[in-house]
Amino acid sequence: MIDEKLEEVYADVLRRNPGEPEFHQAVREVLESLGVVVSKHPEFARQKIIQRICEPERQIIFRVPWQADDGEVHINRGFRVEFNSALGPYKGGLRFHPSVYLGTVKFLGFEQTFKNALTNLPIGGGKGGSDFDPKGRSDDEVMRFCQSLMTELYRHLGEYTDVPAGDIGVGTREIGWLFGQYKRITNRYESGVLTGKGTDWGGALVRKEATGYGAAFFLEEMLTANGTALDDRTCVVSGSGNVAIYAIEKITQLGGRVVACSDSDGVVFDPAGIDIGLLKQVKEVERQRLTEYAEARPGATHQAGGSIWDVPCQVAVPCATQNELSGRDARMLVSNGCIAVAEGANMPCTPEALRVFTSAGVLFAPGKAANAGGVATSALEMQQNASRDRWTFEHTETRLAQIMKGIHAACFETAEEYGAQGDYVKGANIAAFQRVAQAMVAFGLV
Ligand code: NDP
Repeated sequence: MIDEKLEEVYADVLRRNPGEPEFHQAVREVLESLGVVVSKHPEFARQKIIQRICEPERQIIFRVPWQADDGEVHINRGFRVEFNSALGPYKGGLRFHPSVYLGTVKFLGFEQTFKNALTNLPIGGGKGGSDFDPKGRSDDEVMRFCQSLMTELYRHLGEYTDVPAGDIGVGTREIGWLFGQYKRITNRYESGVLTGKGTDWGGALVRKEATGYGAAFFLEEMLTANGTALDDRTCVVSGSGNVAIYAIEKITQLGGRVVACSDSDGVVFDPAGIDIGLLKQVKEVERQRLTEYAEARPGATHQAGGSIWDVPCQVAVPCATQNELSGRDARMLVSNGCIAVAEGANMPCTPEALRVFTSAGVLFAPGKAANAGGVATSALEMQQNASRDRWTFEHTETRLAQIMKGIHAACFETAEEYGAQGDYVKGANIAAFQRVAQAMVAFGLV
């Protein structure tokens, strides 16, 4: 429920941003946590901090023309929403997916602002992307698209201004093409302008693994803080992209047994535990579908369609996309004995799913806390670029683990301070909001 003091703020968000349900959902979820904060801090209300936080500082929409291998000209739309720079340069990934529109980028940029604040590193929030669909496109086509996008986007970027990274459909390969074009246009080898770079040319070790590893670290912290453990738990991880692969790897290393993962075509069930080497070979090296995994792995089965959340498990880690886990899925998980959920993706659980988990007493780690390891390691990449330094894998992974511990502590302690023990959603929203709000108050009316 939104506190009555904030109802008008939310009504205003709905009025000013029509037709953007994901953005409304993300704002609503944060506002539901903030009633207690405005009661305690009237200065935030006087300064209209919440209204200002809900309005992006800048929204950029542009045309991206490119030519396919067969000579046909295509026009896509590019977006960059520079949401909030109170704590540092805008920071957040680029998503290439046909479903992308302004509302997607706004919801992601809003979430990113709070997530980045939770890391306690000097990064503001932003997000971008395009409705370009890379599926089935040749390397040359994707490269030409990246070059065209950057030919417009470069003028808005800079290591002290706005620093994009990858997201769905954008990995190290695309970051390479984007960086190459940025370097060519600006005549500057400005490594810190993009993160998620290849490790041979300024990329941080562990960045690729960081979001998934971070989610597993957060999950382990949460279970330990609540008197239980990951050891021997049956886990299900949705998706089979960057976040999912490395969440599976780290959960397995920490003693969990991941028995299922998915892509947009279906679900793989592997009762012996997902073979991470084979999964990487199929998805990262061969860029194939999960049916190939099931064919190569004795004992594994593939089911086209269906819900991965029907697979019985004690721990669920959604790592594919927004609103992928519905109220019905949540009820199924609860009835199968699920005790904990950690969001690897951004906003993968619907509001109804969240209500089901909360009323069943399931431990719930929201994405803005659990998946912050990726952006945190991006900030570590920016540090290394700025100091022309290069850290080892072990050192960087240790820093990541410490940061995730710090995020967990901030959520846990803030929830307790506001009388909502064990509520990680409230803890994350309030802790993050306070950091951003205090900086905004300090900067005056800007
Ligand atoms: P990838 O593109 O690497 O992988 C996405 C995975 O999710 C693929 O397996 C994809 O299957 C599946 N998927 C995507 N859309 C759908 C859909 N509509 N229905 C079912 N499955 C779908 O992306 P990432 O792993 O990088 O990102 C996953 C999530 O994590 C996103 O929400 C992203 O915003 C979030 N995130 C990512 C971070 C990062 O560092 N990469 C950082 C923080 C959050 P298919 O191949 O069939 O499309």
